[in-house]
Amino acid sequence: MIKETYENDPDKAIQFNSSKSMTGQKPELHIQYVVGEYLSYGYDTNSIPISYANYGTVWNRAIQKSINSWNTSNANVSFNKTTSEWNRILVLNKEGTAYFGRMCMEWPSFGSKLRRFRIELSSNSIIGADEHDGSFNLENFIQSVLCHELGHTVWLNDNPSTMQASIMKYTRDRNSMVRPAAFDISNVSKKYK
Ligand SMILES: [Zn+2]
Repeated sequence: MIKETYENDPDKAIQFNSSKSMTGQKPELHIQYVVGEYLSYGYDTNSIPISYANYGTVWNRAIQKSINSWNTSNANVSFNKTTSEWNRILVLNKEGTAYFGRMCMEWPSFGSKLRRFRIELSSNSIIGADEHDGSFNLENFIQSVLCHELGHTVWLNDNPSTMQASIMKYTRDRNSMVRPAAFDISNVSKKYK
C-alpha cells in the first residue's frame, strides 16, 4: 500500500491509500472530506490563467484538447494560456506516485477562493496504465486525467453520486471519456453564472 499525504492544504490533510497492484485503477488524488458534487472551494473568477511547458507533441496536444473541451463547453469558464508561471500544469516523472494526476492549492488561495494552483500529471503512472490489451490510448488518457483535474479547479468534487456520466468519476474509461459531460458542465455553470 502506498500512502500519500495531501500536503498543500494542511487543514484538510488526509491520508490517501492506494494499492499499487491495481494497475489502471489509480485515482486522481483529491481531498475526500466533502460529499456531493462540489468541493468547498473553486477558482474565484471564470477566467483562469494557466501555463505549461513543452512536453512533446502528444502531451501538449492532449493538454490543449483538455483546455479546449472546457472552453468550448457551456460551463462558462475559460482557461487562458499565460506565459507567466501562474497555475502551472506539470508533467512529472515521479516514482511510486499513487495517482494519475492531482490538483494542489498554492498560495494565495484562501477559504473558498482558489487563486493559485498547480496540476501535476504523473507520467509514469499514466504510461504504466497501459495494460497491453489494445484499449490504451495515451493521448485520450492524458486528456481525461487533465480534464478531471481542471474540473477540480472549478469546484467539482470526485465521484458525484449520480447515474449520469461525469468526468469526475474514477470508474470512467479514461481511454474514451475525454471531455466534461453534460452533468459536469451544468454544475460548473451554476457556479459561474
Ligand atoms: Zn479527482
